[in-house]
Amino acid sequence: MTSSQEARAVVLEAFGEPVSTRGLPVPDPGPGAIVATVELAGVCGTDVHLQAGRLPIPLPVVLGHEGVGRVAAIGAGVTDDSLGAPLTAGDLITWGSSISCGDCVYCRDLQEPTLCERRRIYGINRRADEWPYLGGAWAEAIYLHPGSMVVRLESDTPPEAVIALGCAGPTAVHGLLGVAPVAVGETVVVQGAGPVGLATAMYAQLAGAARVVLVGGPASRLERARALGVGDVHLDLDAQGPAERLDAVRSLTGGRGGDLVVEATGVPAAVAEGLDLCRPGGRYLVLGQYTDHGPTPLNPHLVTRKQLRVLGSWAFSQADYAAYLRTVPQLAARFDLPRLLERFPLSDAQGALDAARAGEVGKAVLVPDAA
Ligand SMILES: [Zn+2]
Ligand SMILES: [Zn+2]
Repeated sequence: MTSSQEARAVVLEAFGEPVSTRGLPVPDPGPGAIVATVELAGVCGTDVHLQAGRLPIPLPVVLGHEGVGRVAAIGAGVTDDSLGAPLTAGDLITWGSSISCGDCVYCRDLQEPTLCERRRIYGINRRADEWPYLGGAWAEAIYLHPGSMVVRLESDTPPEAVIALGCAGPTAVHGLLGVAPVAVGETVVVQGAGPVGLATAMYAQLAGAARVVLVGGPASRLERARALGVGDVHLDLDAQGPAERLDAVRSLTGGRGGDLVVEATGVPAAVAEGLDLCRPGGRYLVLGQYTDHGPTPLNPHLVTRKQLRVLGSWAFSQADYAAYLRTVPQLAARFDLPRLLERFPLSDAQGALDAARAGEVGKAVLVPDAA
C-alpha cells in the first residue's frame, strides 16, 4: 500500500473501456470484518465479460473475485477463520467470492445459497465509490465483510495452487460433486479445455472416473492439459469435426457415449453436440453458460429418446469453496497447478485481461506488490 490510508486498485469505470488504476481509502475493519493485503488475484473469463458489459453490474467496481492475501487488520470479535482455525494478523488467507443473504427463500427454505436473490459478490457487484470501497481483489487491499468465507491457508495448500484454478475450481466442485456427481468407473466427457473444463476434468479424475475425455481447442490448450496430466483422451476441436468427435467417444464406450457429459465451453452450440455425446440413460451437465450468449438450435428428441437427465449448475457456495480448499492439496499433488500461472503487475491489469480474452495463458494472475 502506498500509505496507511490508501491502496491502489484496478477499477472498471465504464463498459468497453480499459480498466484504470486509482487510489482508494483503506477503511478500518468494523466488527466481524477483516482487511487483507492481496498477494495474488486471479483474472478469469467472467472479468472479460464484465468489462465488455455482458453482465448487469453497478459501476464503478474494483474487479477481482479470486484472491489470496494476508490478514492486515482484524475487526472486533474475529478470532477464528470460517473453519475454526485461529486467525491473527499476518496469516495467509483466501476468501470465498460471495456472501449469500441467509434470509431469502433460496437461502433459508430451499437451501440453495447460489440462487440467493441478494448475493453480494466481491469484484462483481460491490461499488468502488461507496464505503468500504475496496470490494475486489485487484487491489493492494480488500475489505472482507462479516459473513465472508475466510480460510487460513496451511502449508499443504500453496497460494499458487489455490489461485491456479481460481473460481473454476469451486465451480467444478458445485457442478460435478454437488449437482451431477461422478460415479466410480464412469466415462466422463468434458467439453471445453479452459479453466472450468480443466477443473472439471481434474475433479472427475479425483472422483474415480475410469476415463476422462477432454474435448477442446485450440491445440495449445489441449497440450497444456496433457502436460498437466489432465484428461486421458484429448479430442482437438480444430482437427476433428462433430461427427468424428462423436465416433471417437462412441468407440471408447462400446458404441454408447459418455455416462456424464459436462459442458464447460460457454458456447451455446456446444449443448446440441453434448446431448449427442451422452449415452442412453446418461447425464448432461450445463456448467459453462455463465454469460447469456443467446439461444441455440438443439434436438430435444434426444433428451426423451435417450432418457437423459439434463442439469444446470450456477456458481458455487461458501461450502463448495471450503470443499475446494480441502482438495487443493490432492489436486496439487496430482497436477502441476502452478505451471498454469502467468503473473502480471497490478499496473498491467488490462494486459492480463487481454491475455485472458485471447486464451493465451493458462491462468493470468495479478501480483499487487510487483512493480
Ligand atoms: Zn439469500
Ligand atoms: Zn472467476
